Amino acid sequence: MKRFHFGLAALCLTATAFAAEPFDDKFRQLDELLPSANQYRTASGAPGHAYWQQRADYTIRATLDEANRAISGSGQVTYHNNSPDTLHYLWLQLDQNIYKPDSDARMTMTAPSREAWGRAKSDEEGMKYEGLRNILAGRDFDGGFKIGSVKGSGGAPLQYTVNRTMMRIDLQQPLKPGEKFSFSIDWTYKINEQKVLGGRSGYEYFAEDKNALFEIAQWFPRMAAYYDVYGWQHKQFLGSGEFTLEFGDYDVQITVPADHIVASTGELQNPGEVLTAAQRDRLAKARTSKTPVVIVTQAEAEQAEKNQAKGIKTWHFKAKNVRDFAWASSRKFIWDAQGYKKDGSNLMAMSYYPKEGNPLWEKYSTAAIIHTIEQYNKYSLDYPYPTAISVNGPVGGMEYPMISFNGPRPVKDKKTGEITYTKRAKYGLIGVVIHEVGHNYFPMIVNSDERQWTWMDEGLNTFVQSLAQEAWEDNYPAGRGDPRFIVDYMRSKNQVPIMTNSESLLQFGNNAYAKPAAALNILRETVLGRELFDYAFREYARRWKFKRPTPADFFRTMEDASGTDLDWFWRGWFYTTDAVDVSIDGISEYGVSTRNPETEKAWKKAQHDAEPVSIIDQRNKGMVRKVDEQPALKDFYNEHDDYTVTNADRNKYAEQAKELEQWEKDLLAQGKHLYLVDFSNLGGLVTPLILQIELKSGKKYIERIPAEVWRYSPKKITKVIVTDEPLLSLVHDPYWETADIDQSNNAWPRKVTPSRLELFKSRQPENMMKDFNTPLKKQDAEGDKEGAKKE
Ligand SMILES: [Zn+2]
Repeated sequence: MKRFHFGLAALCLTATAFAAEPFDDKFRQLDELLPSANQYRTASGAPGHAYWQQRADYTIRATLDEANRAISGSGQVTYHNNSPDTLHYLWLQLDQNIYKPDSDARMTMTAPSREAWGRAKSDEEGMKYEGLRNILAGRDFDGGFKIGSVKGSGGAPLQYTVNRTMMRIDLQQPLKPGEKFSFSIDWTYKINEQKVLGGRSGYEYFAEDKNALFEIAQWFPRMAAYYDVYGWQHKQFLGSGEFTLEFGDYDVQITVPADHIVASTGELQNPGEVLTAAQRDRLAKARTSKTPVVIVTQAEAEQAEKNQAKGIKTWHFKAKNVRDFAWASSRKFIWDAQGYKKDGSNLMAMSYYPKEGNPLWEKYSTAAIIHTIEQYNKYSLDYPYPTAISVNGPVGGMEYPMISFNGPRPVKDKKTGEITYTKRAKYGLIGVVIHEVGHNYFPMIVNSDERQWTWMDEGLNTFVQSLAQEAWEDNYPAGRGDPRFIVDYMRSKNQVPIMTNSESLLQFGNNAYAKPAAALNILRETVLGRELFDYAFREYARRWKFKRPTPADFFRTMEDASGTDLDWFWRGWFYTTDAVDVSIDGISEYGVSTRNPETEKAWKKAQHDAEPVSIIDQRNKGMVRKVDEQPALKDFYNEHDDYTVTNADRNKYAEQAKELEQWEKDLLAQGKHLYLVDFSNLGGLVTPLILQIELKSGKKYIERIPAEVWRYSPKKITKVIVTDEPLLSLVHDPYWETADIDQSNNAWPRKVTPSRLELFKSRQPENMMKDFNTPLKKQDAEGDKEGAKKE
């Protein structure tokens, strides 16, 4: 048996010996992965000469039924077929349908893991009260669109089919290229209580004053996207992949209780009918003010909370060239505003918040909106819309054209009524306002397909957000953007590449927000440099403003406009889960031999003398040797060691020197120090080398080596480093700019990693006898009634 095995092993060896292992070329071009360029999208990453996109214009009349927490609406949609294709049907998105008890979103939910469900290791991963309430309430809530009627422009009913979160309208006449089609549609739906059912919109109920605050979005049937690389965007809404929509003009009239203040996408058309003279006056002042002007004061909002006026009012808004429309409504709203006008931007920054948001909101929200516009304009494009709004309500953070919903609030002490806020709430608010207002640029204007690629809006937006936060204050407590923040994630096991469909992402926030944002910072600071990067990034925004880019358009534009082949970068960072982990494996020093025997034999002797004395010789020290007892036994070789320079050596050197050219002699005399440094790439992701070189005199400097250093040998390279003096130490990535997941192998000589060991007391076993005899505590006046009853 054994012999047979050996024979087999030998066979295998010979078989593999013939096939060379395929070379893993980290720099091979991306063409094999990217779609071919065509007349719609060019190889440079710009829209092609025949680029087209569809358009949908909406006229909507809607009513908020506050008592029943419901919306009813009727809309007229005009769909423009700008494609070269004839369409036989239209698809619409019915995203409210994820609130149906049997929706795919609900039916496909899974527990994170058996362990996290049953035996959570910490508060962080454990099942919350809110989690269980959400599951149970979702089974009972009668959510989703109820479609009333769908009619053509002539009033005849249109055939339609609802497929979960989508709806197909069958056209009686095919819609030819260049034609448009109008239809009307009526609907109602029940609004979700956001704190219970979750979601990107919904209402919040305030038990203290018995009022509600409504954040309304995904509230009407919206035209699905139809485009050259995908056809109809037919991916059902499961809750993660957001909304892929067409641009159009909106004319929207919203009827709400008379004392509500409405914040909305677009510009208010009838201020004379819905605002008081004082409010209109304050708005006019806000336009040129250098600080926010309060349009509805806290006192006025609190009065409205108490009065709960009867009657209704209709607010009329129009918005041009937007891809969606959202609004918020409540009598609880305090409202402040400040104008901003510079270059191509001229807008009103406005915030709407209940008293529960103060004092945080009046101080930071509108200031953060204006900061966002200043910073994003600098890095991408001039904000083109007339308003930019931040609303405080139940939704933690969500974006729509011109309007965003943002969650952070102070906390009120239940007993004392004292209002304080955490550092996390303060910077969370500034950060989320920057992020959600920033989404106007990506994806509300640079209209990437969110249902397909979350990173294209979240990653790019989180990247610019990180630049804006840097510009807010020094040491802004950010959690994303800097490469060092993603090191733990890059080390983690359950990852998928950034280039994964939104609904299939693992570790959503890290994958689609933090990793692409860090990667772009690396591209900007470490690979391209700020000048080349910023030019290319602006060019991407300029090219794709009000158009729909795909990943290839972004990758190609960044290369084309920076003049740099970045295929290796996209391949490593976006198409794999490889990490950066460079190790300095070893260094050997080479002084250049002078060939002068006087110098070189002395050098060799010094090397020999530097070797440790052998243990035998150490222990034999002082031993009386034969030649010591009888010195006559000594001769020439006892006088001269191997390093003695002979005349023959000197003659040979003189002869060789004659044959050397002067420049060759100069080179030998330079006295440079040469080091052969072995680097290995343990993480798989190729990276530039950033080498901090420290010399014997204490001089320190950085050498930056492009990633192409790995092109012939992506796993292991040897690099020659030349210095003027002996090298004291070498550190790769001293500023932690490459997201290297193991800093401990980045230094030569290796550094000790300092850490602290926490010691804990041994646990005492449970003492039931002692617990049983413990006297029962009296419930205090505010103690819960259940406890008191048991007593
Ligand atoms: Zn976002």
